[in-house]
Amino acid sequence: MKHTQLYIGGQWRDASDGGTFDVLNPADESVLATVASGTVADAKAALDAADAAFEDWRSRTPRQRAEILRKAFELFSARLDHFARIITLENGKARSDAMGEAAYSAEFFRWYSEEAVRAEGHVGMAPSSGARIVVHQKPAGIAVLVTPWNFPAAMGTRKIAPALAAGCPVVIKPASETPLTMLELMPLLEEAGVPPGVVNVLPSRSSGAVVGAMLEDPRVRVISFTGSTEVGRKLLHAAADNVVKPAMELGGNAPFIVFEDADLDAAADGLMLAKMRNIGEACTAANRIYVHEAVEEPFVAKYAERMAKLKMGNGLEDGIDVGPLVNAETRDKVAHFVDDAVSKGAKLRLGGQRPNVKGFYYPPTILTAVPDNAECLQDEIFGPVAAIQTFTDEKEIVKRANDTIYGLVAYLYTGDMRRGLRVSEALEFGMIGLNRGLVSDPAAPFGGVKQSGLGREGGKEGMQEFMETQYISTTW
Ligand code: NAP
Repeated sequence: MKHTQLYIGGQWRDASDGGTFDVLNPADESVLATVASGTVADAKAALDAADAAFEDWRSRTPRQRAEILRKAFELFSARLDHFARIITLENGKARSDAMGEAAYSAEFFRWYSEEAVRAEGHVGMAPSSGARIVVHQKPAGIAVLVTPWNFPAAMGTRKIAPALAAGCPVVIKPASETPLTMLELMPLLEEAGVPPGVVNVLPSRSSGAVVGAMLEDPRVRVISFTGSTEVGRKLLHAAADNVVKPAMELGGNAPFIVFEDADLDAAADGLMLAKMRNIGEACTAANRIYVHEAVEEPFVAKYAERMAKLKMGNGLEDGIDVGPLVNAETRDKVAHFVDDAVSKGAKLRLGGQRPNVKGFYYPPTILTAVPDNAECLQDEIFGPVAAIQTFTDEKEIVKRANDTIYGLVAYLYTGDMRRGLRVSEALEFGMIGLNRGLVSDPAAPFGGVKQSGLGREGGKEGMQEFMETQYISTTW
């Protein structure tokens, strides 16, 4: 691994106290790299660099910023293999998943190169006074970006691209499990023309202290976080003191509903995507699967056939569908969910045996007849385990699906579009996959309601998180 230091003001440097931490390869538990662990002093240096770069970056024309983002898209697209390899090495996901993530990550640069030139405003007249109302958008200021380990590239580019398009410099703190992909992105951004200080990367094992210190600095105006609801709550508290604008992409507990009139093959394919993309380590992963009683047997048979074909192994090898989970803790939590459900009466249809090999592997697993008190229905499974229950009535299933503190995404399959739209509206989720097992798209507003978050990433909406509306009252 070439880049293992902090990246501040366009320079690579060690942590101010010389501290480091190890990044492991989840496939064999070996040390992949030893990375500098940023301190509070380094966080201050990163903010100084961002502050120094802000004036020039915000003053560039939208077209100039757009051209740089476009170049980043082209360079990234030419290096998908390279980024996919690093993603697999540090996260574990199989090559097909990593290639998918790399392509998705690059697309945010393309989408926001197109959006950079479309920050809209308007001019109107005050109805009573006749004064002119001039409304325009300004970059909000320095943005602190904190990202999780499950999409080491995409969760970063989904924030960096709109921030840069809006004219904001950023300091990004990648997850400690997977900092290497983000560090590797920096030479690419330099080559694309991003000036020093506009993007700074601060890996750190002291995430609470480092991010907390940045939120105390009045120059920081945006905190954009993707991760667990638990950490999101802490950051919202910390952001309150300086009233920093929050964008929060938090946890999910997605229902996946198969009605009796659904195309069962399409639903089984959709569940493969919604459950197994990223080995289930996704906030969008189907977590509670509800199948109408009348079609449970044929649906489960079709789904089990697809799951049984998946090949588990080192994600770098050809033909592998299911790599290891990211770390021992995640693997053990998944195993615990399965054991808990089975001990409470769930039936094991497939998998469920932890292999006795090095690496954090857990096989594709299907549980049916999962009882309501199983822990996996309350918490994110974050692994390749499908927990299936049945239902009989539309109203009842909407109520059960909504019975969670989360509201990120819900999926439903039905052959009746009137029912599909009626149920979609009744579901309290920020995103709905209606006869689709995948909702993520750079052009669409991604985000949740309730305790799944605040704000949206992607789409037109994603740039708004990094902008402030200013209104000028005048007459002429
Ligand atoms: P996490 O534990 O919340 O960590 C996310 C990031 O926050 C990491 O960079 C972590 O740094 C940092 N962090 C941890 N404690 C912190 C603190 N006290 N102050 C500031 N930063 C702190 O989440 P994760 O386990 O990496 O990711 C899985 C979670 O992310 C799941 O809940 C998943 O649903 C959610 N997620 C949501 C979305 C979405 O768009 N809604 C997308 C992907 C993932 P360290 O790594 O150094 O601890």
